[in-house]
Amino acid sequence: MGEPVKLNEDRPGAHVRVTGVAKSYGDNVVLSDVNLEVAAGSVTAMIGPSGAGKSTLLRCMNLLERPDSGTIQIGHHAIDVAKGVEPANLAELRRSAGMVFQSFNLFPHMTVRRNISLPQQRVLGRSRAEADHVSKRLLERMGLGNKGDEYPNKCSGGQQQRIAIARALALEPEVMLFDEPTSALDPELGAEVLDVMRELAAGGMTMVVVTHEMRFAANVSDQLVVMADGKIIESGDPRRIMADPEHPRTRRFLQAVLER
Ligand code: ADP
Repeated sequence: MGEPVKLNEDRPGAHVRVTGVAKSYGDNVVLSDVNLEVAAGSVTAMIGPSGAGKSTLLRCMNLLERPDSGTIQIGHHAIDVAKGVEPANLAELRRSAGMVFQSFNLFPHMTVRRNISLPQQRVLGRSRAEADHVSKRLLERMGLGNKGDEYPNKCSGGQQQRIAIARALALEPEVMLFDEPTSALDPELGAEVLDVMRELAAGGMTMVVVTHEMRFAANVSDQLVVMADGKIIESGDPRRIMADPEHPRTRRFLQAVLER
């Protein structure tokens, strides 16, 4: 085996800064002048009504969706859309942001191990043996050490989501972006995923999480961001906002969520 592979658990997450991000689809203004700071090693929970632009903002943060204007900075990687996007910079920025979706998006015809190893070989140029070594360690960390040879459809939803998290971590991201990671899971399986996310946060990973899990937002996040109509209408200390929201939209949204 070549160089020992360092896992991202050995390094802290990076600072994230979103400046003046705007995005429209035709006449539909989905994001207007969004500004967001996420301190290195901190957790930001993003909430708000459906259609508010949360998912679009998250996808703009790793340029999966290209903003019409604005700057995205992750650690030392910054892209100002107005100055054009160089493919090399784009690849660097994407690599620095791991993404986990509501639907786990694992390849059904590959074993769990291959699902985690293949991106490492493709993106980081690791040998298969190196990649498998990292996959094994990450699966153990996710409590799935015995699942490497299984196929994803033999795993529960909660296990599949933890595999998706392992796959993202294997690329050594500096920030992890989660788009409603537990929405497709029943509460028990969602709890397994939230436990893993809690550990990740405790380990110093920078995280941005779009979620309806208000307990996670209250207990784990350092910053709560409330979005409505393509704007951040309120942000700050999660417990303060939940106890005493400033914006009437926030109050309405919190009431609706808590009554469910
Ligand atoms: P949220 O995550 O808060 O529910 P989204 O970011 O998914 O909100 O969507 C915000 C708005 O952007 C919605 O009106 C949605 O219809 C629109 N939208 C999102 N993605 C696209 C797309 N690819 N093409 C056109 N409209 C889109």
